[in-house]
Amino acid sequence: MTESSVVLECKKVRRTYGEGETEVHALREVDFAVNKGDFLVIAGSSGSGKTTLLNQLGALDVPDDGEVLLEGVAYSELKKKALADLRRDRIGFVFQAYNLVPVLTALENAELTLLLQGVGEKERRARILELFKTVGLEGKEARFPSELSGGQQQRVAIVRALAPSPAFVLADEPTANLDSTTSIELIDHMRKLNEEEGMTFVFSSHDPNVVDRAKRLVRLEDGRIVSDERVEA
Ligand code: ADP
Ligand code: MG
Repeated sequence: MTESSVVLECKKVRRTYGEGETEVHALREVDFAVNKGDFLVIAGSSGSGKTTLLNQLGALDVPDDGEVLLEGVAYSELKKKALADLRRDRIGFVFQAYNLVPVLTALENAELTLLLQGVGEKERRARILELFKTVGLEGKEARFPSELSGGQQQRVAIVRALAPSPAFVLADEPTANLDSTTSIELIDHMRKLNEEEGMTFVFSSHDPNVVDRAKRLVRLEDGRIVSDERVEA
């Protein structure tokens, strides 16, 4: 890998919660880099530190030690406003609970970030319709979230995250609320976006259906990376 293909770097990141008897070392010294085009799953049992690590990668939390750099820029060097802009423009967040706006249609939800960025309507629509096609949401544009299945809602959330072409998409256990057939479908759609759009994905999971579909697997145990391997089929 050349230097320029590194998107995200985590350098000796530590995060400790509480102190004294209640002290928890959620991340002990996490060191790794995400490369452009990665389809990376961070796996580990509940409590291993996955959410804590993703919060660091998404600039949602500050490490006690070490640093995270996106495209060579350390989050710690950015002021509040610059960090907020970076989160909006360069990181595609997908949350477990989908976080769709109930009074907006699928299309309106999906184009929300583009709207906030000031992208014109014609360009927004073209981009969303193309992505809806890729993830099998064609024809569902006018539906409200309540008229979509959990898997379809999660696909809308993924299109919303990906539409502005962020540096990477970050998803914390994206299949946690889905049955196993729907989970597999969702991951396959994400892989398609990874292959067709070249989008970099970093997500956490402890679901074997998801872990089996990773191209790169980082295993966390007790706040430490215990393995990092290419598993591409
Ligand atoms: P995972 O997402 O893998 O389940 P987490 O990152 O949520 O793991 O948690 C890692 C460890 O840190 C766990 O022991 C958890 O109880 C602890 N932890 C997480 N968030 C907090 C917090 N806000 N305050 C105190 N302890 C926390
Ligand atoms: Mg978690």
